Amino acid sequence: MDKKYVYSFSEGNKEMRNLLGGKGANLAEMSGLDLPVPQGFTITTEACNRFYEENSQLWDSLLTEIDQHLEELEKIQGKKFSDPKNPLLVSVRSGAVFSMPGMMDTILNLGLNDEAVKGVAESTENERFAYDSYRRFIQMFSDVAMEVPKALFETKIDEAKEAKGVKDDTELSADDLKEIVEEFKAIYKEEQGEDFPQDPKTQLIYAIEAVFRSWNNPRANIYRKLNNIPDDLGTAVNVQSMVYGNMGDTSGTGVAFSRNPSTGENKLFGEYLMNAQGEDVVAGIRTPQPISHLEDIMPDIYKQFKDIADKLEHHYKDMQDLEFTIERGKLYILQTRNGKRTAHAALNVAVDLVEEGLISKEDAVLRVEPASLDQLLHPTFNKDDLDSAKAIAKGLAASPGAASGKIYFTAEDVKAASEKGEDCILVRQETSPEDIEGMISAKGILTARGGMTSHAAVVARGMGKCCVAGASEVHVDERAKTIKVKDLTLSEGDVISIDGSTGAIYKGEIKKENPKMTGNFGKYMQWVDETSILNVRTNADNPRDAKQALEFGAEGIGLCRTEHMFFHEDRLPAVREMILSNSVEQRQNALDKLLPFQEEDFYEIYKIMTGLPVTVRLLDPPLHEFLPSKKEEMDALAKEMNLSYDEIVSKVDELHEVNPMLGHRGCRLAVTYPEIYRMQARAIINAALRIKEEGADIIPEIMIPLVGDIKEMKYVKDEIIDEIGKVFEEKGTQVEYHIGTMIEVPRAALMADEIAKEAEFFSFGTNDLTQMTFGFSRDDAGKFLPEYSEKKIYPQDPFAVLDQDGVGQLVKLAAEKGKAANPNIHMGICGEHGGEPQTVEFCNNIGLDYVSCSPYRVPIARAAAAQAAIKAKNEDIHIDK
Ligand code: PEP
Ligand code: MG
Repeated sequence: MDKKYVYSFSEGNKEMRNLLGGKGANLAEMSGLDLPVPQGFTITTEACNRFYEENSQLWDSLLTEIDQHLEELEKIQGKKFSDPKNPLLVSVRSGAVFSMPGMMDTILNLGLNDEAVKGVAESTENERFAYDSYRRFIQMFSDVAMEVPKALFETKIDEAKEAKGVKDDTELSADDLKEIVEEFKAIYKEEQGEDFPQDPKTQLIYAIEAVFRSWNNPRANIYRKLNNIPDDLGTAVNVQSMVYGNMGDTSGTGVAFSRNPSTGENKLFGEYLMNAQGEDVVAGIRTPQPISHLEDIMPDIYKQFKDIADKLEHHYKDMQDLEFTIERGKLYILQTRNGKRTAHAALNVAVDLVEEGLISKEDAVLRVEPASLDQLLHPTFNKDDLDSAKAIAKGLAASPGAASGKIYFTAEDVKAASEKGEDCILVRQETSPEDIEGMISAKGILTARGGMTSHAAVVARGMGKCCVAGASEVHVDERAKTIKVKDLTLSEGDVISIDGSTGAIYKGEIKKENPKMTGNFGKYMQWVDETSILNVRTNADNPRDAKQALEFGAEGIGLCRTEHMFFHEDRLPAVREMILSNSVEQRQNALDKLLPFQEEDFYEIYKIMTGLPVTVRLLDPPLHEFLPSKKEEMDALAKEMNLSYDEIVSKVDELHEVNPMLGHRGCRLAVTYPEIYRMQARAIINAALRIKEEGADIIPEIMIPLVGDIKEMKYVKDEIIDEIGKVFEEKGTQVEYHIGTMIEVPRAALMADEIAKEAEFFSFGTNDLTQMTFGFSRDDAGKFLPEYSEKKIYPQDPFAVLDQDGVGQLVKLAAEKGKAANPNIHMGICGEHGGEPQTVEFCNNIGLDYVSCSPYRVPIARAAAAQAAIKAKNEDIHIDK
């Protein structure tokens, strides 16, 4: 039998999400629960992918399947396409596996033509409504399916209003609208060179093709990239019989969440508009009413809706986002899905659902997107400064957070300014999907129009970005690039602050402060720690970062880069003296000056991390990085060092390398100048002995970078051990320490079994390992990698997300070889990838002991580690520990 590409709602269920898309699967599920869902059918995501294989055309057997389902739908609804008495009308909507709000196309009122419009007028006894729907359909179909510019139609409407001397569309009569329909059809003919299609089946084919094509429109592509949604999933298309919220005062439409998506509060939250179509609510053109008001005007409908929301929440065991329409006093549910929410709401809902007995702690751990925790780690406004600031206006608290920045009025301007390093607030009347790039670049978003479910609000919440929407007191003039609030005028580039948790808007900047992990956040992180196997350490080379990471739950330091310490103003002269020395004695002399500084650096960090492991990585970069490159600086250095300018220039020239990243750096420096690492080892041990003397505990781990061979490792290690032996002898006391290596050169990964014989630990330096495996310079690849991503050659930046297929093979191989040769070896990762959730899962599954990442990513890595452990258990993945 041929593959089935079309499913009626009664044939599907929620488990068929990959095939039917989220919307289609949930419509089918709700049908099965006997909820009031307008019937229809879904064309699968597989059909979308085949559509692209068939040169963007629908094929014969699919058309036959669609025909069969149409006939069935006509039977169920008791209506027929083009019926002059009671015609069938449908909506045609996209529905991907993962929700992509507003990114793809929709066509409503399909089926209207010169005959059907009469049928609608007759069956609804409302001629005006019928012709208004018809003109909306012509406009939408022409725009979405045929790319006829919307503006042509809008101008016609404006002209009609002007001719009649009215302001609102609603003031146009049935006869006016009939005329407009004729004019719209004429525009279509002029633009397309043929009549507006009257056959509903032809309309349907064009509409389905348009929705499939919209999977690949630029904004959908950007959205997928931003949310890591694979490009090859495709979208389903849902064809559903229409119900109308714009049939008079007993009709309406709305969207509502079963709990508050900003805060997680367990209370129905949403908005509706009477006598309106769904798009009117989302577009933010009319400001809708809060859902609680519906209880006053239609108590029975409100109760029925609330019961359905509860039922669905229990059924899906998660907060639901519902769309509904009331047609002449009858409620229909058009969509349900797990609601998008802020990280704050996600945490609160997850913890509440556990406490309500609906889900387990493990389920709760899985309910929060690890990367979204970043939203909770961002600063909030300092309370005192906020109390003394006076708000200039207030809008809706659409997406929480605190943001200050210069105001810009277009997405392009925001993008350009933020590329220059400015903090920006995007200010718009209302946003539309075209603004997506500006929204990504902005620190916060302010709109004058639109409600809590307007485009700005929904998308900002999805991104975890601060947003104040519907601030109607703010008059935004996008042309003049100004905002006016009473008698205050602000222009492009002026600074404002916005509070997405209260909706308040302030002139100027307000100080911000760091967040705390208390309340439900604390509870969630406790469940995270109860579940995870991997430890999470931090990359920190100063006490401030170490302290921050500890507060975020770091279990040690996985990478302390010592070169950052060398760059301090008070050490740089001694560092340069060491580099410019012409003899071992001279170099030793300079190193002796550096020793106390280094010892103090380590001591201060150890004091914060007592009881925890601290991995100190010995000097890594090529030495020329410490020398000046400008003439004036070289002059100054010459004077300072009592050398001639020429001597400095010649030393700088001597150290110049064509490929410094592949040059004299890492342990190669110690092969040439062992005394550098000897000084560092001495400082590491001296500081540890001081901590021990004070009665505390610290176990330093000394890490040798850029090793490629066991003999190289052994040479450097022997030097270090010899120096430490001397320290122990001088001090008459000892302290436990470990020596290990980074695995960051491909050869080291391949020779890991040999190297493991000399190493107590491996730490995967995936920054260099990625650089050397791909042959991409870390410092330059940013210039061309975006092109690789756009062309889908390497969809993700391999320096941000570990390339599991390639670089990951080396990591896995080295881990296996290392463990086989030295069963006691301890292993972690300290490249930038260590805080990236997909990489954390990979590290968990290959049995590493820890990941190490920057302080602000520690909570993210902890949550990702817990989720990885749960998934591995559920999928029965064997982890070799
Ligand atoms: C690495 O290469 O992954 C690493 C952590 O070291 P660095 O970034 O300092 O080269
Ligand atoms: Mg490195």
